[in-house]
Amino acid sequence: MKKTAFAALAMGLALGAQAYPDRPITVVVPFAAGGPTDKVARDLIEAMRKPLGNATIVIENVGGAGGTVGAGRVAKAAPDGYTLLLHHIGMSTAPALYRKLPFKVPDDFEFLGMVNDVPMTLVGRPTLAATNFADLRKWINDNKGKVNLANAGLGAASHLCGLMFQQALAVEMTTVPYKGTAPAMTDLLGGQVDIMCDQTTNTTVQIESGKVKAYAVTTLKPLTTPALKNLPTLDSQGLKGFNVTIWHGLYAPKGTPKAVVDKVNAAMRDALKDPAFVKNEEALGAVIVTDDRLTSAGHRKFVVDEIAKWGAVIKAAGQYAD
Ligand code: ASP
Repeated sequence: MKKTAFAALAMGLALGAQAYPDRPITVVVPFAAGGPTDKVARDLIEAMRKPLGNATIVIENVGGAGGTVGAGRVAKAAPDGYTLLLHHIGMSTAPALYRKLPFKVPDDFEFLGMVNDVPMTLVGRPTLAATNFADLRKWINDNKGKVNLANAGLGAASHLCGLMFQQALAVEMTTVPYKGTAPAMTDLLGGQVDIMCDQTTNTTVQIESGKVKAYAVTTLKPLTTPALKNLPTLDSQGLKGFNVTIWHGLYAPKGTPKAVVDKVNAAMRDALKDPAFVKNEEALGAVIVTDDRLTSAGHRKFVVDEIAKWGAVIKAAGQYAD
């Protein structure tokens, strides 16, 4: 490319980044609408509109294959800042789980910063007789091969948590995959599936209103959220060391101009201080990120470390998909 043409292109990109955003931004959520990832994304875009100059930001739910369909869509989108991805821990589990993953992590993405850490809960259909974890455990052991465990597909948070749960109990269950845990929750409430491990952002309201049976939180310490503070940990109920927390982060396709990455990162960091966002997150047991993972480099490093951590767990479990 001639020097002048290159200079013109560089100037065009810089001006584009300056004007960004001048049209609607789409945030892909790789799970069904109404679930925990969707909930975080909708609250976040609401709070990001203002710092992005009252931008129009829309959510597109692209569920399937534990979040890999939606993530793949964003990896291949134009790197212009108008297609972003809000994804969870699945970003780090997919590389070990899928032999034919249509994208690479971290190579195919720009890292825009992490949003929150979210504990999970073990919940059951309302008609289950067991009212506490000890009774549930006995029921699972008495019904080996018959218990249905809902999840959002291979690599989803619910899959990971369910996998660790089965390993801890040394019992195999029939897993029922959905495009997200919103439809899974509908079936749990209807009694079509027995149990599910899901983010507090999806289960708190159901637990509070007594619509599901709640058995445990998946963190080492009990939670302080008013609605969940009496729920014991799995660790304290015989599953020593059981500890799963899910995180969410924001991504763009690789090659998105740095000025755009910085602009979205700054808007996201502003949004994390928005009083309405903070209130919603706290009420549902989520913890807003305040550490180095707020930066693009810190976010990237964390995901790379998580890929190594979960890759080892998944390989040990002998799990993979084609
Ligand atoms: N909670 C789901 C999961 O298991 C994802 C979702 O529906 O947001 O990963």
